[in-house]
Amino acid sequence: MTGPYHFELNANGRCGTIKCTKGNLVLELDWEMSGVPGKDILLTPMDLTHWVSGEAVAKAEQRILLEHLRTWLAAKKTRADIDRPTMEIEHSAKCAWSDCEEPSLKGFAYCGTHYDDTLLRK
Ligand SMILES: [Zn+2]
Repeated sequence: MTGPYHFELNANGRCGTIKCTKGNLVLELDWEMSGVPGKDILLTPMDLTHWVSGEAVAKAEQRILLEHLRTWLAAKKTRADIDRPTMEIEHSAKCAWSDCEEPSLKGFAYCGTHYDDTLLRK
């Protein structure tokens, strides 16, 4: 399920765009083919801050959009650099983000939400 979003991957040689549509709102992300083992495409740094129309995408919606995009890519068996590195949690370590009380992802400084924020351009 990709919620209210519709995704479409367009390829032009070794790069292209992923078009994200929600109703009549559109957002386009550039991707390029990965040279990194374990990844098919590279999407970062990724800008989910605005629809093409100029309307801002709220931070909370950027996180949801990112999660739906991951789900869609996983269903296509396309591995990307926006995938969560691990779903495991380090119970003894707190997220490095200031004022965050969540445990960090195993082997990473941040919790899941703040790891995602590092992928989202400010
Ligand atoms: Zn956190």
